[in-house]
Amino acid sequence: MICELCGKNVTFCKKVTIEGVQLEVCSECAKFGIESKKAPEKKAGPTPVITQRLEIREKKSRPKDVLEGVGKEELVEDFAVRIRNARSSKGISQKDLAMKINERQTVLSKIETGQMRPDDKVIRKLEKELGVKLREKVVDTQIAKGMSTSALTLADLIRMQKD
Ligand SMILES: [Zn+2]
Repeated sequence: MICELCGKNVTFCKKVTIEGVQLEVCSECAKFGIESKKAPEKKAGPTPVITQRLEIREKKSRPKDVLEGVGKEELVEDFAVRIRNARSSKGISQKDLAMKINERQTVLSKIETGQMRPDDKVIRKLEKELGVKLREKVVDTQIAKGMSTSALTLADLIRMQKD
């Protein structure tokens, strides 16, 4: 073997690191370097077991995420109709209802024509006063999309670490 440092032909070379470079050198030159550990360790990615467990964990955690999405209450799209119908079935005027919920009639008028979305406070007052549900638990499609995106990202990450 030829020493990579001095070029001497020797029977035995030592693997050493000299100034960050790994070289096979003779015993003389080995003094200048730090003796390397055996074969450089392969960068260990997650073992199949870890990957499997991650996937299981991901599956387990998903229903909870879905429930969180479902738990989100949003104003129904036909809130204007619901309010109008509920009010007229109770036989009270817009003015009376506005007074009961402590809002201006013009505001209520805009809500009933769908020109304005009532805020949470007004929604609650209207629900209580009219006895209707104006909010619904919805599965936000955006949330669902976001979920699958993040799942993909995690899968990609695992794949990257494997390579
Ligand atoms: Zn040498």
